Amino acid sequence: MNTQISLIQKIDALLPQTQCGLCGHRDGCLPYAKAISEGEEANKCVPGGQPVADALAELLGRPKLKAEESVWPIQSDGRPQRMKAIIREDECIGCTKCINACPVDAIIGSGKLMHSILTDLCTGCELCIPPCPVDCIDLVEDNHVVPSEETRIAEQTDLRKRYYAHIQREEKRRINRKGPVVRANIDTALFAQFSAQSDLVPEIQVVEKTAKPIVSHDAATTIQLAKIRTQIKKLEKQLSVREDLKKRALLDDLQQQLIVLGAS
Ligand code: SF4
Ligand code: SF4
Ligand code: SF4
Repeated sequence: MNTQISLIQKIDALLPQTQCGLCGHRDGCLPYAKAISEGEEANKCVPGGQPVADALAELLGRPKLKAEESVWPIQSDGRPQRMKAIIREDECIGCTKCINACPVDAIIGSGKLMHSILTDLCTGCELCIPPCPVDCIDLVEDNHVVPSEETRIAEQTDLRKRYYAHIQREEKRRINRKGPVVRANIDTALFAQFSAQSDLVPEIQVVEKTAKPIVSHDAATTIQLAKIRTQIKKLEKQLSVREDLKKRALLDDLQQQLIVLGAS
């Protein structure tokens, strides 16, 4: 089992961490890495293009296959053109549907307010485009210089961390969510298993959806719950304007406290 985990990690290290799902694995690179380790063809990563297909073939000792084609032209490093999304902000109705769809949390804004994309973080994965009801998100070419191998690996490491943090937040929200889920269902247990094996990504804990017990709170607990909810609302508002790691950690902690107090 450990040998398989180590192989999956080696495969995942070569994947771009765009988490776009274009390989057919809607919940990202790690599930595709796992499928490759179990025998799936290793040429399906569209943003990785031929260089990633070849690197995987070498790692696995398999024949080199032609990479799945991208709709974008090929850059100087042999990979498809990198893209970025931009929101036509005057048309945005602030519905927030794009926020949860973004695997790397690159969109900021809050209900009924205009949204924007942090272009440095955007990978051009396109996942925010289908949920937008007014079709106000465009893709444009990323005209930064093509990154060096070292920069690309650093970017991938950062994207992987952001995705794990995103999954953990989604996992906590999942148990309270009533409306439809915009993003594909995520195999959280798989990500949790891998997060437990690596210091390089935030740890993911699976939150069990249990039948809600009927809880009656004493007055002190009711006041405490009200205070926590107010703090959560305030933090969510602040974080929708500007990301802040400390505030994000505090928010996660408060949400956990609500669960522990049986108020989720
Ligand atoms: S970057 Fe996209 S296509 Fe490539 S492995 Fe990750 S999810 Fe699949
Ligand atoms: S902003 Fe849109 S295109 Fe950019 S990373 Fe997020 S979901 Fe993908
Ligand atoms: S989905 Fe579209 S309209 Fe809704 S907040 Fe995002 S960009 Fe604005």
